[in-house]
Amino acid sequence: MSRLAQTLGLTEFQTEIVAAVRTFVDREIIPAAQELEHSDTYPQAIVDKMRDMGLFGLMIPEEYGGLGESLLTYALCVEELARGWMSVSGVINTHFIVAYMIRQHGTDAQKNHYLPRMATGEVRGAFSMSEPELGSDVAAIRTKAKREADGDYLINGQKMWLTNGGSSTLVAALVRTEEGAAKPHANLTTFLIEKPAGFGEVLPGLTIPGKIDKMGYKGIDTTELLFDNYRAGAGDVLGGTPGRGFSQMMDGVEVGRVNVSARACGVAIRAFELAARYAQQRSTFGKPIAEHQAVAFSLAEMATKVEAAHLMMVNAARLKDSGERNDVAAGMSKYLTSEYCSEVTQASFRIHGGYGYSKEYEIERLMREAPFLLIGEGTSEIQKMIISKGVLRSYAL
Ligand SMILES: Cc1cc2nc3c(=O)[nH]c(=O)nc-3n(C[C@H](O)[C@H](O)[C@H](O)COP(=O)(O)OP(=O)(O)OC[C@H]3O[C@@H](n4cnc5c(N)ncnc54)[C@H](O)[C@@H]3O)c2cc1C
Repeated sequence: MSRLAQTLGLTEFQTEIVAAVRTFVDREIIPAAQELEHSDTYPQAIVDKMRDMGLFGLMIPEEYGGLGESLLTYALCVEELARGWMSVSGVINTHFIVAYMIRQHGTDAQKNHYLPRMATGEVRGAFSMSEPELGSDVAAIRTKAKREADGDYLINGQKMWLTNGGSSTLVAALVRTEEGAAKPHANLTTFLIEKPAGFGEVLPGLTIPGKIDKMGYKGIDTTELLFDNYRAGAGDVLGGTPGRGFSQMMDGVEVGRVNVSARACGVAIRAFELAARYAQQRSTFGKPIAEHQAVAFSLAEMATKVEAAHLMMVNAARLKDSGERNDVAAGMSKYLTSEYCSEVTQASFRIHGGYGYSKEYEIERLMREAPFLLIGEGTSEIQKMIISKGVLRSYAL
């Protein structure tokens, strides 16, 4: 058999770009990742190179200066990036979701204003649903936008866990407006907020306090965002009509789940590669540990999980690209790949013995990356809610 996680039926361009990203990862990301992670340093040189490669515009239509590629192409590139260092895939993740939401739901003026600059990476996106009191229960959002007599909105409240909150220059934030129906999710509105990169009060009434200190996924910034009478214009409402934010965000999160799946695949592939190498180098009781059946079987289980995860992720991406609804496929893919990623990473860690606990070994970093994938874009429990609703719809008596 060939190497794991191959994808049949790719176009010439897809094959080329995925190979180019893989080479970039092997040459420039893997050798730098440990040091950047441990010093919690933003990977500016890597991000600049990603801009040059056009990765920020991968899925933005050609008419706006992007490459106009599919979700599958995007996901395969993300899988490669996460294989090198998950934080690097995090830099483009929120950007990709915001660009997708503008492409799908923005007014023509918003598309023309943002997408060409997002395609070059000049404008970089973050998206913000979570708050200190809620993450899974999106409809419970408390941050409020109050409409003023002049048509502007005054926004007050606190958002939490913005990936790229400080380094981004455009935040898509979901807040409660007074317009819309009485149901909790029906009066939520997405605002597009253009801001300078950086920390502190970056605009009147808008503060990014600083980086949250995380256990892993370091190098890139995750932040809070405080609104204190921040003034947004009516033109900042995504799509122009308030009250549509919940479904816009859910659409964004659905493609985001394929993206998180791709990251889980990338981390799992790397964990497997490290285990396969170490198991052939390390000897105990007179032979390489790979020749002890328990270790060989563990490698077999890991390889099978890596392969299954990749196939689920590719299936979910292709379904979305075909125009079909993919809520269940994306939910299944996100659930399975993130759980398998944790299991494969843990198994690789065990194979490394005591050295896996040393910061000199890459597996130590992967052990801190994998848990985030169980949580981001909806926990496993939330995926099971989506999957069970979907399958019961299809199997209703
Ligand atoms: C590093 C990092 C980056 C992030 N980046 C972003 C970002 O860019 N933008 C953003 O908006 N958010 C972001 N998040 C937030 C993330 O989406 C939430 O943490 C996640 O959705 C879970 O929400 P919560 O933390 O509030 O947990 P809760 O919703 O409070 O859940 C706590 C536990 O209860 C379980 N649970 C909740 N409800 C149910 C239920 N009905 N049935 C069964 N179990 C349930 C959950 O599965 C979980 O185990 C980020 C989080 C982290 C850690």
